[in-house]
Amino acid sequence: MFQPKTIIEPFRVKVVEPLPVRTRAQRAEALAAAQLNLFSVRACEVTVDLMTDSGTSAMSQEQWAAIFRGDESYAGASSFFRFREVVSQLTGMHHVIPVHQGRAAERILFSVVGGEGKTIPANTHFDTTRANVEASGAVAVDLVIEEGRSPSTEHPFKGNLDVPALQKMLEQHAGSVPMVVVTITNNSGGGQPVSLDNMRQVRAVCDRFQIPLFLDCARFAENAWFIREREPGQESRSPKDIAEEMFRLADGTWMSAKKDAFGNIGGFLALKDDALAEQCRNLLILTEGFPTYGGLAGRDLEALAVGLQEVLAEDYLEYRIRSTRYVWRRLDEAGVPLLRPAGGHAVYLDARGFLPHVPPSELPGQSVSASLFLEGGVRTCEIGTVMFGRTQDDGSQSPGPMDLVRLAIPRRVYTQSHMDYVIEAVRYVFEHRNQLGGLRIKNEPPTLRHFTCGFEPIGWDPLAPLAAAARKPRAAY
Ligand SMILES: *Cc1c(COP(=O)(O)O)cnc(C)c1O
Repeated sequence: MFQPKTIIEPFRVKVVEPLPVRTRAQRAEALAAAQLNLFSVRACEVTVDLMTDSGTSAMSQEQWAAIFRGDESYAGASSFFRFREVVSQLTGMHHVIPVHQGRAAERILFSVVGGEGKTIPANTHFDTTRANVEASGAVAVDLVIEEGRSPSTEHPFKGNLDVPALQKMLEQHAGSVPMVVVTITNNSGGGQPVSLDNMRQVRAVCDRFQIPLFLDCARFAENAWFIREREPGQESRSPKDIAEEMFRLADGTWMSAKKDAFGNIGGFLALKDDALAEQCRNLLILTEGFPTYGGLAGRDLEALAVGLQEVLAEDYLEYRIRSTRYVWRRLDEAGVPLLRPAGGHAVYLDARGFLPHVPPSELPGQSVSASLFLEGGVRTCEIGTVMFGRTQDDGSQSPGPMDLVRLAIPRRVYTQSHMDYVIEAVRYVFEHRNQLGGLRIKNEPPTLRHFTCGFEPIGWDPLAPLAAAARKPRAAY
């Protein structure tokens, strides 16, 4: 039987968006004007944009067709009922509250269940989740398994929640814990999946202490695919069947539909509890909108309803996970230090291993990220000291827990040849890594500094063309 090695996209192109092609000199100018911050670079300067997989998906013909069906009635629009039907079927939850994106669901939910004196455990809280838990006055605690904390450890389900740690915590503080959160896949932990077995165990602990379990399900379909691939006994189930079981273990869930629903905007909160749903709806009306649209247009609800079904297609998920793993493997073969194993939506470079001569306080992730843009027009995102470190009173940097550069892959947007191009660009910068130096932050705002701060080099010229790399034996990682 013909068993092709080539990964083909399970779709073909009908509408074409030109890709910006720029010269290195043009990128050097853009990078200098942006003070080496890629958030300040205009998208028209970027050839392959891997900054995020959020809101960047390509919609299908069925989604665009559904957009024309959008019912824009203020109250009781038929688009809402179609959306609710799909979400209820998938999650088994009766109350479906649309929101404009994931963090709106978080703000509403934690305004109700959070607050001073409360503690909310999760495998790992995504940054907006943590921010919304903390904004309510509650404490966010990350309880991911030991293996999930180290970039180089291999484990099939690095997103798993540490069940004994959860049990211990609840034995001491059950009264102050209003819910347990499982993020699927674990975005902040490198897009690593959570096993069905782990979710069942978390459910059992929640039952023992009568505490509700919530899923932060932005990448539920990718998580379901990993379960099918990696969890014993799950290999013959459909991703839909697995996803339905995951949701049925939970009491509530919220989603950033900018991820696995192929939406450019949108999200929802789905709940079983009537009283909680009523409180959430009241807050929704205050800031998002009436409960049958919740900050979205009817046409958005239509597109999301279609996307939530499409994402569970086996040919799509197989291609999606294989394509990400392909980029990971080709970089691993070249000796590029990576977070292991490949995640679902992204490949993460380990910048401390990439630039061992640049200490974390000199922002190695930002340096790699700036160079990838300059040399190849590939835009990535630093997830390290710039994002999570702090400038101390004496002006020095306290480093973040890891220094990573994330190559997030938008859904259905780029082809395999774009991925080959990205691999070449990363390998080129890696071969010249000795010529990259450190950076310091020139000016920074009081919060969320990574979006707007400026950088300057420490004793090197980051815009200078790279000299031919000396042929040296490859470092072993
Ligand atoms: C993106 C994301 C969010 C926040 O959603 P937005 O749509 O960006 O507001 C929350 N949790 C996880 C796991 C996410 O990936």
